[in-house]
Amino acid sequence: MSYRPYQQILRRKSREIGVGKVRVGGDAPISVQTMTNTPTEDAQATIEQIRRCELAGADIVRVSCPTEEATAALHEIVREVNVPIVADIHFHYRRAIEAAEAGAACLRINPGNIGSKERVKEVVKAARDHGCSIRIGVNAGSLEKHLLEKYGEPNPEALVESALWHADHLLQEGFDEFKISVKASDVFLAVAAYQQLAEACDHPLHIGITEAGGKRAGTVKSAIGLGSLLWAGIGDTLRVSLSAEPEEEVSVGWEMLKSLHLRHRGVKIVSCPSCARQGFDVIRTVEKLEERLAHIQQPITLSIIGCVVNGPGEALMTDIGLTGGGAGTHMVYAAGKTDHTVRTEEMVEHIVGLVTAKAETLAAEARAAQEAAARAAAE
Ligand code: SF4
Repeated sequence: MSYRPYQQILRRKSREIGVGKVRVGGDAPISVQTMTNTPTEDAQATIEQIRRCELAGADIVRVSCPTEEATAALHEIVREVNVPIVADIHFHYRRAIEAAEAGAACLRINPGNIGSKERVKEVVKAARDHGCSIRIGVNAGSLEKHLLEKYGEPNPEALVESALWHADHLLQEGFDEFKISVKASDVFLAVAAYQQLAEACDHPLHIGITEAGGKRAGTVKSAIGLGSLLWAGIGDTLRVSLSAEPEEEVSVGWEMLKSLHLRHRGVKIVSCPSCARQGFDVIRTVEKLEERLAHIQQPITLSIIGCVVNGPGEALMTDIGLTGGGAGTHMVYAAGKTDHTVRTEEMVEHIVGLVTAKAETLAAEARAAQEAAARAAAE
């Protein structure tokens, strides 16, 4: 979704694979992932967390499967949620086969680490039989011993060699429905590794800065790393790794894609930092609006600006605008034009009403377009 030549991002050409119903790579929209932190064996708690992630806009959710009880619970989890589920497996090839049988859409497993060629063959067969793709997930913190010995430390070359080594295990079995990640908690290392990997192959890339930290620091770090990659056209699906609830990771992932105009979901609020000129309390107003409008899925832009210095200009570029005026009366803009005024006391409720109405109109238009397309296809 680019609007001006200087806003264009040329995406790296990658092959397209499926993660259940979600396409990853090629021209498919960059998908947002997260990972549950409930015990997978507790199917109900995991289902509830996945549903909260779905509401926040997750396209794909990953679930750890460390035990046989976890892969057993996966049957119910997959049945009860809408998003495709990626089963996260380390070392245990049996868990991978069980997860494929349970309906996982994708297996996150490093084929080079699961043992003999026979075992790789069995996992690939299970993936094929059950329509699963695979993610090769290389991580600087768990690089193979032979690569650490060769390179002395986890560096970009070591990460890329590890990724291609694992990929080769799958390619030897004639399996190419996989994506790759080469994560590191160091932004420089992760970005350099992804840049090199992007040059070295055309497999779709799952990007992330691993163990990025808590909500604030991790968000900043991820935005620098993932932002650099996305801006350079690298990345087909992403996960923001925060020491915060998975819904939070999803929201941050979306904000990154929205900032780069790569995807747009929900209300994008343009707001000023506020100063002595503000006609209303901008900070508190934006806080309230963010909370009240978090459930909206339709792409809508909203400017909340404290005064006329920047208000009219920002309103020109947003669907709905609010600019602070004098004596507790503020201007509301519709599609960039002055429309009517509102008093401070009614302001939040009024803007929520306008955005909700706009979202309903957009949803009705989308439904009508879908129905028309379905009718045209049936004719
Ligand atoms: S738009 Fe107005 S209120 Fe907001 S920061 Fe700028 S001068 Fe201050």
